[in-house]
Amino acid sequence: MGIDEIFKIIEDEKIRFVRLQFSDINGALKNVEIPSADLKRAFEKGIMFDGSSIEGFVRINESDMYLKPDPDTFAILPWTLEGQRSARIICDVYKQDGTPFEGDPRFRLRKVMQEAKDMGFVPHAGPEVEFFLLPRKNNKPSFEFLDEGGYFDLLPVDIAEHLRSEVAVMLEEMGIDVEATHHEVAPSQHEVDFRYSNALSAADAVQTVKLVIKTLAIKNNLYATFMPKPFFGVNGSGMHVHVSLLSTDLQKNMFFDEKSGDISEHMRYFIGGVLKYSKAITAVTNPTVNSYKRLVPGYEAPVNIAWSLANRSALVRVPSARGMATRIEYRSPDPSCNPYLALAVIIKAGLQGIKDKIEPPLPVEKDIYHMKEEEKDNFGIDHLPSNLKEALDEMEKCELIKETLGEHIFNKFLEMKRLEWKDFSIAVTEWERQRYEIV
Ligand code: GLU
Ligand code: MG
Ligand code: MG
Repeated sequence: MGIDEIFKIIEDEKIRFVRLQFSDINGALKNVEIPSADLKRAFEKGIMFDGSSIEGFVRINESDMYLKPDPDTFAILPWTLEGQRSARIICDVYKQDGTPFEGDPRFRLRKVMQEAKDMGFVPHAGPEVEFFLLPRKNNKPSFEFLDEGGYFDLLPVDIAEHLRSEVAVMLEEMGIDVEATHHEVAPSQHEVDFRYSNALSAADAVQTVKLVIKTLAIKNNLYATFMPKPFFGVNGSGMHVHVSLLSTDLQKNMFFDEKSGDISEHMRYFIGGVLKYSKAITAVTNPTVNSYKRLVPGYEAPVNIAWSLANRSALVRVPSARGMATRIEYRSPDPSCNPYLALAVIIKAGLQGIKDKIEPPLPVEKDIYHMKEEEKDNFGIDHLPSNLKEALDEMEKCELIKETLGEHIFNKFLEMKRLEWKDFSIAVTEWERQRYEIV
């Protein structure tokens, strides 16, 4: 959207305030609201903020940073006061010397997008966001089911049907093309899917979708949680990511081979790259202690490093659509990840696969959950890290991830997450009390 167009909307719609949004290293959305009259200055010079107060940003002695709005992301916030609505713009973070801040997650993804462009590709992505809607008590989520619904259920079991409709309407109003919303497999679990777009706007859209869902949940006196595995014994919440590479003129899907009518060599190598780096990628796509309670057999989440044409127990699935819709579905990410960093590492690994012509192993069509270890060995199937510590160890060894995240985020991330693991290791849990009360 052009800047003139934005100012026209602001005038026509009487927008008095604009929220400048950006994300910290954990993917938490941050914002500062400024009067619309100051937006011009924001476009020209940027708006200053204290970078030392943002998780994973900078130290106190170098803390003046600037937010520069990306005009493509302007959207009116449909839930703000009628007649005096606020708008939002997603920003890039700059340093005092006018260069991009290398610790800005959005900048990391931009860099990968540029690298792809230099290779003749525009990465497109379509994340599928799953979440639980829980009752809200004393301003906190209460971990009990709100409904007993299952996959694709509707009223009367699915009592949050109206909320999903509201989410869809608001997302459409904000320019996000909703493809589907539905009740998911677990009780109280839901999914929102939107149309694939270039990977930077797909990551922006994840942030918007989560914000809209959280906002509407609170307005309905509920609580939306994107925690990967809030309940033992039922499915967790994933954030599968569909990825394809289009040609720079966007006319061709480079994952589709017109001659054979099937997947292209580029796509095979992309899969090879993604599988090769998947252990290290997992630290970024599944960054919490709780993430690893989801990556266990039996709940439609991947455990093993394999690809397949239909099999939902594999890490990479290739949906049956061909032509422009040819794509991979990378199934391990969960919605606790930072979507900018997650897309950056997945795409970077795929591009590396193309550069190094990494041939993937044969696809596995059998249900891997029910394979014996010996059979997995025969297929050469390894497994994803089984906890945060293992994932961090893999990440620390991986030069490709270091290059993708940049030294700043790479080091901060490891430092923060090692601390998180240590905290968890010394915590005394309900499980232990129940298990050991009589020893
Ligand atoms: N909820 C499942 C997961 O943890 C995915 C279910 C599906 O295939 O949509 O990834
Ligand atoms: Mg799903
Ligand atoms: Mg899926």
